[in-house]
Amino acid sequence: MPDICLLPTSVVNKIAAGEVIERPASVVKELLENSLDAGATRVDITVEKGGADLIRITDNGCGIRADQLTLAVATHATSKISDADDLFRVQTLGFRGEALASIAEVSRLVLRSRPADCEAGAELEVVGGRAEPIRPVGCPVGTSIEVRQLFFNTPVRHKFMRTTQTEMGHITEAVSRLAIANPQVHFSLTHGGRLLHDLPPVDDLRDRIATLYGQPIAESLIEIEGRDEEVGLKGYVANPTHSRGNNRMQYLFLNGRYIRDRSLQHALGEAYRGLLLTGRYPICFLHLNISPSMVDVNVHPTKSEVRFQDGGRIYSQLLGSLRSKFLTTDLVARGTVPDQPSDNDDEVAASTPMRSEMFDWAKQQLGQPSTGAPSGLPEFKGFPSGGMPSMATTEALRLHPVSLPAEEAEGASPATAQENASYRVDEATAETPAAHFAPRAIQIHNRYLVVENEEGLEVIDQHALHERILYELLREKVLSGKLESQRLLVPEPVDLAGNEAALILENREVLGRLGLDVEEFGGETVLVSSYPAMLANFSPNEVLHSLVEKLSAEGKSPEPRDLLDELMHMIACKAAVKYGDRLTPEEVEALLAQRHRAQDHHHCPHGRPTALVFSREQLDRQFKRI
Ligand code: ADP
Ligand code: MG
Repeated sequence: MPDICLLPTSVVNKIAAGEVIERPASVVKELLENSLDAGATRVDITVEKGGADLIRITDNGCGIRADQLTLAVATHATSKISDADDLFRVQTLGFRGEALASIAEVSRLVLRSRPADCEAGAELEVVGGRAEPIRPVGCPVGTSIEVRQLFFNTPVRHKFMRTTQTEMGHITEAVSRLAIANPQVHFSLTHGGRLLHDLPPVDDLRDRIATLYGQPIAESLIEIEGRDEEVGLKGYVANPTHSRGNNRMQYLFLNGRYIRDRSLQHALGEAYRGLLLTGRYPICFLHLNISPSMVDVNVHPTKSEVRFQDGGRIYSQLLGSLRSKFLTTDLVARGTVPDQPSDNDDEVAASTPMRSEMFDWAKQQLGQPSTGAPSGLPEFKGFPSGGMPSMATTEALRLHPVSLPAEEAEGASPATAQENASYRVDEATAETPAAHFAPRAIQIHNRYLVVENEEGLEVIDQHALHERILYELLREKVLSGKLESQRLLVPEPVDLAGNEAALILENREVLGRLGLDVEEFGGETVLVSSYPAMLANFSPNEVLHSLVEKLSAEGKSPEPRDLLDELMHMIACKAAVKYGDRLTPEEVEALLAQRHRAQDHHHCPHGRPTALVFSREQLDRQFKRI
């Protein structure tokens, strides 16, 4: 074994630099954080070749005195903390005193700075960790740092740099995070002489989000505010109509610092449970404020991971605030009637395949071909009235007397509709429409219910709505242990294949909670001894086969809670009226009457919207009436 020796400072610094400075975007992040810590109200960022050639950050912050410049680029030199106790009171973004030293170690860095009370500024150049003498220089108040030829002396890192476009993507992201955290600061970002972002200071975070991510997202934002003695929560989340295929648009800030936190991301997902499709992630811009003594930010050199003293509490605060806000928020999806074919944005493009996917899925579950013509689908024979009690009749669709004559519910004559519409346009504000408003509803194409309402018209997906109502009923009953289940006089054997019987038996307990009792029979057969009343219309054989499909699709053994939820979705889907079922006017009315019993009636349990609203104003505008 060779002798042990202390590493030369330059090697130590390169090792440290490797941790903090991973790519050009890390330089941008560190320098911006320094500018913000220095109290800057304006920061301009100039980049060439994705940061490989040049990163220049100029701020109007407090500046650095000439005699402190050398210290600023020294390792573990900081003006932000002075003793270990300060680590638990950190109010600044930086405190480790590593960034400038690390950057200077692996680039050609020029630092120019001038505090407001100094006549002139000073300049310090550091090349690969070697500092040149300090020179006086004329410059405006504030600090400007130029980083050229990043990683010129660390060839391995240099090789790891990606294309200009990729590196620029990371830089834009780093700028966006800090720009969202600091809406009161003016930022600009220029790349290759082109101004990519100019973000003037704003009072409302929403305006900054609009500039960065577009008006549709900004308009869909729901304001969140929650506070207890120790945790403050403030910001916005997007309406579930706007979501992403990954969690990258989840902006969480802790005391002004962008963080990634698995547990908080999970809380977000839980808050949106049933409002988003599987594989879709909510969008949020949320600020958490807690006492610095309750969180450790010194977990990782980049400080994007933190450790909470009481993570559970923050988890429930986040989940609780969002859920209670959603309860009082109108989450019904607004339909869009484009004037001309629009450049499909992500959301619009996503919504169409999602809907057809759902019908395909529902049909597959029911063993029907996924592309059958409407007439090829079996006609709905009415709700079961005899035999085993079915929740579909006893609970969810108990027929309510209809207040309108049936003919009227079948559809207003064009003339009436016309009169009605013009009447409303003329006297739009004269009376509250609700006072004499009798909603009419018709079923079209055996799929959708079109309902006139106070706002305009609503198109409801009959299956999705019924599925949601049944799902909530089922959940309520399962949770309170009051689910009706039918004990079979003669247990029914169901033949399965391979390891399917084992799979069913492994999940016996969860199935039992759903009113489905299964027993071992030997070999690949199981015995069904009781059966949920809600599934009275389906044979145990069919249901068990669907269950097996679900269970094997779940892959690695899911949490019993998630499994139960999945199975409740499946049962609700099976029991609900189908796409293609003809409903009588009474059934339409009954379905609509049940609607408001469901808390999240605006979304089916899989997160698809159950209804689209087209406002009368929107229609008036489209028909050039206003
Ligand atoms: P840290 O931010 O952790 O203190 P840095 O290496 O990033 O460490 O910066 C070292 C010191 O240089 C800071 O503590 C600060 O005093 C000074 N400094 C760096 N950038 C600026 C700036 N843009 N304006 C004013 N002071 C700065
Ligand atoms: Mg710093």
